[in-house]
Amino acid sequence: AAMRPLPYFCRGEVVKGFGRGSKELGIPTANFSEQVVESFPSDISTGIYYGWACVGNGDVHKMVLSIGWNPFYKNVKKSVETHIIHTFKEDFYGEILSVVIIGYIRPEKNFDSLEALISAIQEDIEEAKRQLDLPEHLKLKEDIFFHLPQGKIVNNH
Ligand code: ADP
Ligand code: MG
Repeated sequence: AAMRPLPYFCRGEVVKGFGRGSKELGIPTANFSEQVVESFPSDISTGIYYGWACVGNGDVHKMVLSIGWNPFYKNVKKSVETHIIHTFKEDFYGEILSVVIIGYIRPEKNFDSLEALISAIQEDIEEAKRQLDLPEHLKLKEDIFFHLPQGKIVNNH
């Protein structure tokens, strides 16, 4: 699929998702609002990506991010969900999530079982960790983007 130039920088509020039970699977995904998703390039490929993320003015962590079809809107709108590879003490609904999307891992897939889904996501996480340790990707962790004023919502500044 044709890809927009990456990295893609995005910042926005974390909202309630559709209660798919990601947290129960041990893989919580912080959802961006509809408004933020609509600001994404409309031709960006659906699928799983890796990059860096930070909540508020907190530390920058590795993440995996999915761009998929939003069942709540009969799959005509996209949803963007970020799993940060870090254990947080508390939920952070309402906070500002900043992400830099760096690379593509795979397209969206349907799985035969929950076990197959979970193991695919665990492989995505391992792939993200490996990719993000590469010097060219590590340097984006220090990007000035993560130190810009938090109040402002910036999309690909
Ligand atoms: P929802 O359907 O509301 O998105 P999830 O089960 O996907 O619910 O859980 C997502 C929420 O979990 C996030 O909005 C955030 O507040 C919290 N959370 C805690 N730890 C993480 C993490 N490591 N990555 C993403 N979200 C996390
Ligand atoms: Mg979620």
